[in-house]
Amino acid sequence: MERDKDLTKKLRRYCRKKGIDVVGFADPNLFKQFPKYNQPKYYLKNSQTVIILGMHLYDIILDAWNNNPQTGEHFHFADSILVRYCNQVKNFLEKREYKSKIISYSPGFFLKDISALAGIGPIGKNNLLISKEFGSQVRLRALTTTATLELGTPIYKSKYCEECNKCIENCPAKAFPEGKYSKEICLPYCLSHIRMLSEHTAIWCNVCIESCPIGKIKEHKKMGNNKNESPS
Ligand code: SF4
Ligand code: SF4
Repeated sequence: MERDKDLTKKLRRYCRKKGIDVVGFADPNLFKQFPKYNQPKYYLKNSQTVIILGMHLYDIILDAWNNNPQTGEHFHFADSILVRYCNQVKNFLEKREYKSKIISYSPGFFLKDISALAGIGPIGKNNLLISKEFGSQVRLRALTTTATLELGTPIYKSKYCEECNKCIENCPAKAFPEGKYSKEICLPYCLSHIRMLSEHTAIWCNVCIESCPIGKIKEHKKMGNNKNESPS
């Protein structure tokens, strides 16, 4: 199937203008390995592309969870911004007569895995996506669309991790027995070590994100580039 290079270029330009840090396009046919509820066609018939949007977690506050004591509802700072980005991309495509569907967080897609399928970066030893620009300091969201956008090349292996073990060495829970990530060890540790930033706002352990050296230089560059800009 021929892919629309021009539309892809325009969409990438639009995303840049909106300040979206990471953009990738994955082939829905590669999702057959996942359960039914994690496949694009379950959400949108005639889905042709899965769009992944990512936000650089350049400040820890973006990765914080807030619990509203009145409603009991949770809200994640970066995720709320990502949902806004998804809506902007959806509007961009709908203006051009393409259908789109923003995918819920749960059941949703396996965001790290599909980002690797979109060629954004590999999954590292820390069991997280490693993007070239921001390392694992990214939060992700996805939407699927009938637009035939140009696809990224899947990445199946992390060249970054070949001679590195920093995330494993720094993990306070020792959640990498024999070098492999263990959710069974990580999760109880995270739940019992939630860090409160304020009365209703907390962050989870992020040592394996922070200890990954990939993307750090970019982080400082970005902060440095912004230092003379005033918020608008
Ligand atoms: S989140 Fe914390 S406990 Fe879990 S693997 Fe990463 S560093 Fe270890
Ligand atoms: S810290 Fe090193 S081993 Fe761990 S994910 Fe990053 S590059 Fe890979």
